[in-house]
Amino acid sequence: MIEVLDIKNSSLAENPVIGQMTLNNHEQVLFCNDNETGLKAIVAIHNTVLGPSLGGTRMWTYKNEMEALTDALRLSRGMTYKSSVAGLNLGGGKAVIIGDSKTQKSEALMRRFGKFINSLAGKYITAEDVGISTKDMEYIKMETDFVTGLPENMGGSGDPSPVTAYGVYIAMKASAHEKWGNESLSGKKIVVQGIGHVGESLVHYLVKDGAKVFINDINETRLKAVAKETGAEVISAEMVYDMEMDIYAPCALGATVNTDTLNRLKCSIICGSANNQLADENVHGKMVIEKGILYAPDFVVNAGGIINVYYELEGYNRERALAHAEKIYQTTLNIFKVAKEQNIPTYMAANRLAEKRIADIGKVKLGF
Ligand code: NAD
Repeated sequence: MIEVLDIKNSSLAENPVIGQMTLNNHEQVLFCNDNETGLKAIVAIHNTVLGPSLGGTRMWTYKNEMEALTDALRLSRGMTYKSSVAGLNLGGGKAVIIGDSKTQKSEALMRRFGKFINSLAGKYITAEDVGISTKDMEYIKMETDFVTGLPENMGGSGDPSPVTAYGVYIAMKASAHEKWGNESLSGKKIVVQGIGHVGESLVHYLVKDGAKVFINDINETRLKAVAKETGAEVISAEMVYDMEMDIYAPCALGATVNTDTLNRLKCSIICGSANNQLADENVHGKMVIEKGILYAPDFVVNAGGIINVYYELEGYNRERALAHAEKIYQTTLNIFKVAKEQNIPTYMAANRLAEKRIADIGKVKLGF
């Protein structure tokens, strides 16, 4: 007879790795080590109920293995939620390579990493993330087909940012509809923080719609170029949180919605592409409500990128990817509705929606 071990109440839960995996119900973690190439990597698979786990590979100078593991577990779980709400048949996964992306990369290291991914036989599909270049993807691809988000010249879908920006733009319109009863952004004062790949594309949509767009970035050259190109007005870093505005669009870093900024922000809506915008979901998810701000959950509105790479898996077609991204409008409205009905913060409504789809599909699969 097979005895089922209750890990949460066993001594295994005290093991730092098993304990962390148990906490958020991760399915599998693969530790990769290769002394020859110096590769040290972790692949975290959170959930594969909806389909193979998909998420990028990040190369970062983690202080130690535990920090890398925590990041891989947190990011892979985020991917499960993002794909679930976006209605994709994908689970959540993420890989991290421990090391300096500027000095510790080699063809051998990347190909060895590709071999490890291949050993998972498609349970995890990788893509580009922080610290990984197109060249690295080429090396990984030499060893495994479980790769997506490739550049167009490698037969892939290219930069996903324009689709991400489009998703953020329509989610902003849905938020405007919810807040003001009218989806028009014409005449609205919108601050876009970070005008990188996504931010710049978003500015184009907003300017075209007649919004009054204000931009900030640490990259002065880029800032000037985008201002000249679009007519958006440049503002200082302080002004991002201190000026009167209708919509704040964080498109640079995470955790910019925190106690300090919420005490300063004078906006009605927060809707942008950055991941993990709320510094602490429990605290700041409630604080935005107290401030009368409508928060459009980040992983819902920035799903255009994952939607785009999903369509690469089945033979890329930009029209189909964009048609799927259109659904972000309705999903965002639905989340606001659930949040109101259940009297919960919007981030929680999004989480519940993601969990419900996984639970429902999980039941169907168990029926076979
Ligand atoms: P990017 O690196 O092209 O652009 C980020 C921009 O933010 C850069 O121009 C950078 O100079 C600027 N920046 C950095 N720190 C800043 C600061 N303190 N203040 C102001 N500006 C600052 O990245 P991206 O691809 O445009 O992505 C933007 C955000 O959206 C990231 O958080 C990313 O994780 C998230 N996201 C991107 C995609 C996508 O498809 N690219 C998909 C989902 C989520």
